[in-house]
Amino acid sequence: MSLTIALSKGRILKDTLPLLAEAGIELLEDPEKSRKLIFPTTQAGVNIIILRATDVPTFVQNGAADIGVAGKDVLVEHGADGLFELVDLRIAQCRLMTAAAVNAPAPAGRLRVATKFIHTAKRWYAERGEQVELIKLYGSMELAPVMGLADVIVDVVDTGKTLKENGLEPRELIMHVSSRLVVNKLAMKMKQTQIAPLVAKLQSAVDAREHATA
Ligand code: AMP
Repeated sequence: MSLTIALSKGRILKDTLPLLAEAGIELLEDPEKSRKLIFPTTQAGVNIIILRATDVPTFVQNGAADIGVAGKDVLVEHGADGLFELVDLRIAQCRLMTAAAVNAPAPAGRLRVATKFIHTAKRWYAERGEQVELIKLYGSMELAPVMGLADVIVDVVDTGKTLKENGLEPRELIMHVSSRLVVNKLAMKMKQTQIAPLVAKLQSAVDAREHATA
């Protein structure tokens, strides 16, 4: 039976490929150097498809991909019905945070929050009893406070360099983020003989790394 694995370009692809290689799956071609979106691998019938990070859960939920790798930030924002989150791959780690202009005081009125993580931000502020105005953006979030569009942004932060270079500072931690292996619920049942060993191999590859760095 064929198996489709959904990944996204950039950090997730770069960090997932060595783990997949340890599980015996290697690409025959470098996707970063190709315009193709579907790639055969060294294992017959196993293909890797390249999607936008935010589309990975959609493909896996609907069974258009059997397996995917997505950041916890993306999974929480998207909702995880129809898929199992089976392995914390511990890659592409970062933090989902609020950030604002350096030393900016809290505004007098309702806080304006710009983010692409609308659902997550809404829930987080609601949990703390704060009513905020949410502004959906698709990128360059750091510009929102600088240009006066918002008081605060909610975004993923790694080193904090991007915030700093734009005159912003991290404020509150919403959650720690790492990439997770997700599996379509029906595929887990129907393709168990293929998926279960792969999941086990990936889990041991992650565990081996943890022990190496412990
Ligand atoms: P930083 O190292 O904080 O300057 O992060 C660089 C940029 O990459 C920022 O715009 C972040 O939004 C983004 N970023 C950092 N880590 C991740 C990650 N694990 N997944 C997705 N985007 C990230």
